[in-house]
Amino acid sequence: MNFSEFKSQFPKHVSLVAVSKTKPIEAIQEIYKQGQRLFGENKVQEMCDKYEQLPKDIAWHLIGHLQSNKVKYIASFVQMIHAVDSLKLLQEINKQAAKHNRTISCLLQFHIAQENSKFGMTITEAKALLDNPVFDSLQNVNIAGVMGMATFTNVESQIRQEFQTLRSIFDELKQSHFSLSSSFEVISMGMSGDYQLAIESGSNMVRIGSLIFGERQYTH
Ligand SMILES: *Cc1c(COP(=O)(O)O)cnc(C)c1O
Repeated sequence: MNFSEFKSQFPKHVSLVAVSKTKPIEAIQEIYKQGQRLFGENKVQEMCDKYEQLPKDIAWHLIGHLQSNKVKYIASFVQMIHAVDSLKLLQEINKQAAKHNRTISCLLQFHIAQENSKFGMTITEAKALLDNPVFDSLQNVNIAGVMGMATFTNVESQIRQEFQTLRSIFDELKQSHFSLSSSFEVISMGMSGDYQLAIESGSNMVRIGSLIFGERQYTH
């Protein structure tokens, strides 16, 4: 695919995370050469390996579910963690970020899909997290916005509705907890199959893998 052409279709306010999970170094270098600097991975070990081997001006986003005990491996370099769904995880990210004298941007993950396999909080849980006094003490994390995944379906109205739910959650939290914070600004939603709907519903960060790199082949 012609990546530059692909990328040029996105409005200026939409960030494109190139999701390189399972793809080899060479495939990432190819896209890097065409100017892309923002890549997403969903596994800690794989992201660390790729970080080691690739240019250091790449911004790495961890987009997948993250276990607290693995935060330490990525804390020195990760730019954004998309799938934060508990105060415990946020505390650990804060602790590890502090060790490296860094601030790590985090997105709160919301459960917007019908499927019960997907991770994420409800707005009530998120507000409880943000209202917890412990949250106020976290100096090395920055809550940059929200993230969610729609149901894997081709029923367009359902996907649209789920994206609009995330958009409303963002608006509500912006008003209730982040009205003084200009850094709460990201709505991360939309993948290869549904990114156009996501952008129409207010997404400003899409996470696209297979459309850029081709279908993934899993060996396990
Ligand atoms: C794999 C993945 C993507 C990208 O999926 P594609 O359908 O290949 O674009 C986006 N977000 C998350 C959280 C993922 O795990």
